[in-house]
Amino acid sequence: MSHFSIQCRNCGKLLENAYCAFCEHCKDALLVTQYYDTRFSESAASGVWRFNWLPVHEPNISQPGPVVYRSKGLADKLGLSNLFIAFNGYWPEKGALLETCTFKEFEAAIVLQNARENNIEGLIVASAGNTARAFAHLSATTGFPAVIVVPRMCLMEMWYLEDRFAVPTLAVHDGDYSDAIDVAKRIAMTTGFPFEGGVKNIAKRDGLGIVMLEAVSKIGKLPDHYIQAVGSGTGAVGAWEMTERFVKDGRYGSRLPILHLGQNLPFAPMMHAWNKRSRTLSPEDLNPELISQITTRVLSTRYPAYSVKGGVYDALTSTNGKMYGITNDAVYAGMELFLKTEGIDLVPASGVAVAVLKDAVRTGAIKKDETVLVNITGGGEARLKEDKKTYSVVPKFISKNISEKEIEALLCNVLKKNS
Ligand SMILES: *Cc1c(COP(=O)(O)O)cnc(C)c1O
Repeated sequence: MSHFSIQCRNCGKLLENAYCAFCEHCKDALLVTQYYDTRFSESAASGVWRFNWLPVHEPNISQPGPVVYRSKGLADKLGLSNLFIAFNGYWPEKGALLETCTFKEFEAAIVLQNARENNIEGLIVASAGNTARAFAHLSATTGFPAVIVVPRMCLMEMWYLEDRFAVPTLAVHDGDYSDAIDVAKRIAMTTGFPFEGGVKNIAKRDGLGIVMLEAVSKIGKLPDHYIQAVGSGTGAVGAWEMTERFVKDGRYGSRLPILHLGQNLPFAPMMHAWNKRSRTLSPEDLNPELISQITTRVLSTRYPAYSVKGGVYDALTSTNGKMYGITNDAVYAGMELFLKTEGIDLVPASGVAVAVLKDAVRTGAIKKDETVLVNITGGGEARLKEDKKTYSVVPKFISKNISEKEIEALLCNVLKKNS
């Protein structure tokens, strides 16, 4: 017996035993996991598997969780008395053991486990870097096949924990992250492996929502405010969905945390739309030219889950949330401030989150004694490199206009070489 069903945000229909990495029930609406157990609980299982609100039955991969702690350094600097940090990365001195250094590892672990339990034989993954690393690592350590598609512009900042040929990686030489997503979908159709599904995959959102599970477990209640850097919006929607479950549970507070979400200027399509209270992203804010000017490639998708029912627009509406635009200079300043006050290096996207926190405190959107959770989505890459060898990624280059015939030939080769 499963401990959950899946419900359509639009029409409310309940789907039992469905694998929904790519299915759409109503057009333009997300499906959401409904856990029969409406009370949050934790078992004696290790790492992330101790939480009851995950769409998996018998996990057999080991997966450490986030580390949530009360901040001293950054909190003092900003004059906050209840600042909690969710650190997702590598910082063994604090107990943070994510060797791929971002919260994408939770997404990969839950998606892989959920896919396996649904008799899926492999996955096609599109990524701007961090998702690729997370899936490549889990694919290599579990033997679950994955083919990874990335845009060439992201290769420079990419690295793997495993040897260069461990996981097949394709780089789109003439396109950006969104083109990589398009190619990945076509490869999925050709190979019969499903596309991991992006925001539509309930396992992906619930996996990223682990940060909220760990935080409420540690803090003992829902925070008043939640801060995160957003690209696709999947992580923030996952966190919001978890907070809805906690409110329903009733023991952790009755108010949804206010979402404070940041993008990296000049590419901030969701911020511009939200500031007009519009559900529609405007084409000029999605201009690829803007993407080449930002520091945080992982925040560069032109297909965010904003307008879709149950997506970022609805999450901001239901929590009375705010969107922030963060300049490259402020990103670097945020990374530096965190290193100085907390003592660990951050990936640029986390610098966006720190900058959002500073802005929100400065403008009074966050009061000094309120409980704040800042999601440090990635960090400790420099720290990891002191302990571990990492490898640069050696991909096969492909065009975004690759034909179906070429895909077949290529994957035949790639998968053979790796088997
Ligand atoms: C992917 C990513 C984000 C953004 O998450 P979305 O779910 O795409 O909004 C933020 N920070 C880091 C480090 C990431 O890898």
